[in-house]
Amino acid sequence: MGPFLPSPITWGCLMAKMRSKSDLPTKLCVVCGRPFTWRKKWARDWVNVKYCSDRCRTVGAPPPTPRPG
Ligand SMILES: [Zn+2]
Repeated sequence: MGPFLPSPITWGCLMAKMRSKSDLPTKLCVVCGRPFTWRKKWARDWVNVKYCSDRCRTVGAPPPTPRPG
C-alpha cells in the first residue's frame, strides 16, 4: 500500500481556505451547515451566533410552545 495522497481538489480547497482574502472569522450554520462570515451586526454576539440568517435561526430555534399544565 502506497502513501495516501490527497486529490488535487482537496488541495485546492485547502489553498483556498489558507488564502482567504479577509481575516474575518467564519462559522458553520448549525441548520444548513453552510459557512458564514463574521458580520459587524454580530460583533457583540458573535460567540452566540449559530445561524447564518434569520431564516435558519427561526428553523433552528422554534418559538417555545406554551404547554398547559
Ligand atoms: Zn443557515
